[in-house]
Amino acid sequence: THTRLFEKGKIGSLELSHRILMGSMHLGIEGDREQLNQVKAFYVERAKGEAALMITGGVAVLPEGSGDHMYCLTDDDHRHQLQDIVEAVHQAGGKIALQLQHNGRYAKSSETGLAPVAPSAIMSRITKETPKALTLEGIQEIKAAFIDGAVFAQSVGFDAVELMGSEGYLLNQFLSPLTNQRTDQYGGSFQNRMTLPLDIISGIREQVGQGFPVIYRMSGEDYMEGSTTREETQFFAKKLVEKGVDALNVGVGWHESKIPTVAASVPDAAFAHVVSAIRDAVDVPVIGANRIHTPDVAEEVLKQGQMDFVAPARPWLADAEFAKKAKAGDHAGLNLCISCNQQCLDHTLGHPPLPVGCLVNPKTGHEWEWSLEEKSHEVENVAVVGGGVAGLAVAKASAEQGNNVTVFEAKDHLGGHFYLASQIPSKSKFRETIRFYKTSLERLQVKINLATQPTIDELKNYDRVYLATGVVPYVPEQIKGVHLPHVVTYSDILTGKVALGKNIAIVGGGGIGSDVAHLIAQRNEVPGAVKHFFADYHIELDSSQRVNVTVVSRSVKAAKGIGPTTRWVLLSELRRLGVDLLKGYECKEITPEGLWVESQEDRQFIEADQVILCTGQIANAPLYQAIKDHVPTQLVGGSDDASELNAAKAIQQAYRLVYDH
Ligand code: SF4
Repeated sequence: THTRLFEKGKIGSLELSHRILMGSMHLGIEGDREQLNQVKAFYVERAKGEAALMITGGVAVLPEGSGDHMYCLTDDDHRHQLQDIVEAVHQAGGKIALQLQHNGRYAKSSETGLAPVAPSAIMSRITKETPKALTLEGIQEIKAAFIDGAVFAQSVGFDAVELMGSEGYLLNQFLSPLTNQRTDQYGGSFQNRMTLPLDIISGIREQVGQGFPVIYRMSGEDYMEGSTTREETQFFAKKLVEKGVDALNVGVGWHESKIPTVAASVPDAAFAHVVSAIRDAVDVPVIGANRIHTPDVAEEVLKQGQMDFVAPARPWLADAEFAKKAKAGDHAGLNLCISCNQQCLDHTLGHPPLPVGCLVNPKTGHEWEWSLEEKSHEVENVAVVGGGVAGLAVAKASAEQGNNVTVFEAKDHLGGHFYLASQIPSKSKFRETIRFYKTSLERLQVKINLATQPTIDELKNYDRVYLATGVVPYVPEQIKGVHLPHVVTYSDILTGKVALGKNIAIVGGGGIGSDVAHLIAQRNEVPGAVKHFFADYHIELDSSQRVNVTVVSRSVKAAKGIGPTTRWVLLSELRRLGVDLLKGYECKEITPEGLWVESQEDRQFIEADQVILCTGQIANAPLYQAIKDHVPTQLVGGSDDASELNAAKAIQQAYRLVYDH
C-alpha cells in the first residue's frame, strides 16, 4: 500500500490531496486555437485521473525565449486560451500551475524568427546558434516579463506558478559559469550570477502577495563539467526560499549534458539523491521526478525522505489515470511508461517537431477527437488474429466500442515482436505494456485463445476480422551462403531457439541489429554484485568467455531510425561494450568461416562462427486472400506495412481503424 503517496500535502497555501503531481510537458500543439479543445481535453483527462496538481508545458514570457508551438504571454489570444484551460481544469475538479519559461540560448531563431538571447554570447550545441549577449535593458525586460507572467497566472485563476530554471534554460544559464561570463552585476561571482533569478522571485512575491504559491524548478545537478557546484546549488536553494519560493522542483541535467537522464537504461530513482541534497538544505517542500515511473518507486522515495512530492511527466502520457489507479491499488490496470521516448521527447525534439503522443497509449494527443463516447452501432462479433501489440490494441479498441471480441494467437504467449523486443536489456519494460493490454482485454471480456490458429471456416462465422499476424524476418536471398547452418535470424536469437556463438557477426545495423548487438554484448558484463564479491576476495575475473560482436551496417549512420533521445545512449553503450561497428559495408557472401563485406573502397573478411540476420522483415498475412471476400477483413500493424517495425504506428493504426470506423 502507498501510505505516503496518498497523504495530503501543501505547497504554500495550496492544499493538495496527495503527493503525485504531473510534471510540465510540452504537447507540441500549444498556441494554435484550433487545437485548444485538444489541449483542454488533455489536461481535463488528467484532472479526472486525479493528478494532485498539473504543471503546464513551458509558457514563454517573451517571443525570443519561445519555441515551436509554445504559448507566449505577449500574445493576447494565447492568454485567453490559457484562461480557458484553467477554467476547464477547475470545472473537472483539478488544479493547475502555469510554468513560465524563457529558452535563452536554447531558443531557435528558425522557430521564433528572432535572434536568441542569453547571458553571454556562447554557442549552444543544441541549436548550433550563438545567442546575443543580453543588454542590461534586456535583462530588465526579462525580469519584468517573468513577474508579469506570475501576475497573469494569479489573475486568471491558476493555482500556482512555476518558474523554469533547470535543464539549461535561461534562468539556469544565468547561474552557470559555463554560460554566464558577464562582468557586470549579473555575472562573475556566484552571488552575481544568482541575481536575476532571485530578483525575479522578490519581484513576483511583491506583486502576487504571500498567498499565491510560487514553485521554482531548479537544477539539482547540471551534469556539465565546470558548471555550478553542489554547494552553490544548495546555497541557491536557500536563497530562493528566503526570497519567497514555496516549493522547489528539482530537475537534473542540461539538454547538452552527456549523462542520460530520461533513457530506459537509467535506473529507477537514480537521481533521488540529488533532490534529497536540496531537501536537506531547505525547509519548504521539494519535488522530484526523473525516473520515478511507478507508484512503488514514488512511494519509496517519499518513504526514504528524499522528497515531499513526485512530479512524473511521461507516466501521465502513458496513463491519464496514473494517480487514480495508483490510489485504487490497481497496478494490473496501470499502463506504464516504458521510457521509449518514441512519441513524446523524440517528437518534441524532432526536426520538425511533432505533436506529442504516446506509444503505449494511442489516445494521448487524441483525447478530444476520441472523446471516448461510445458510438451507437450494431454490436459485432469480431475476430482478431494475432496477439502482438497491433492485435491487442485493435482488440481493446473494438471491445471498448462494445463488440464481442475473440483473439487468436498462434504462440503460447501474447506480445509478438514486442515480446521479442522485451529481451533487449533496455526494453524489458515492454512486458509491462503486454501485461496492461492483457489485463484490459480480460476486463473487457475479450476471449483470448493462445496457441490457436483459426481456420478459414471458423473465421467466416465472424462479422469482422482483423488480421494482425505481424511480420517474419526477411532473409536476403541475394547473399551467397545465406542458408548455411550457422546463419540465423534475430528472431532465432531473441526466442532462444538457437544458442549464441562466440564470434558473432550481425548483418544489418538498423534498430534491430543494434539492439541485438546490445543484448549479446551485455552478456559479457559481469553483474555489479558478482564483480564486488570477486574484488572483495581478490579473485581475478575470467574474461575468456567473452563473446565478440561485429555489426555490419550498410548505412554510414548506425542505428538509423532510432529516435534522437535514445540513439546516442545506445551507440555509447555499444562502444563501451566493445562492439565493432562496420559502417557503410554490405555483406556480399557468407562462408562457413565468416563473411565477406564490401564498402565503396574496401573488401574484407570477418571471421564468425555465427551470423545473425537483422535485415528487416516482411509482412505475414497468409489468411488474407482466403478470407477477405467472405468477411470484412482488415490488416493491422506489420502484416499491413512491414517497412519498419513500429509499435507506435501499429497501435495508432489499430485505434484509427476502430474509432474512425
Ligand atoms: Fe513513455 Fe514512450 Fe509513451 Fe513517451 S511514448 S510517454 S516514453 S511510453
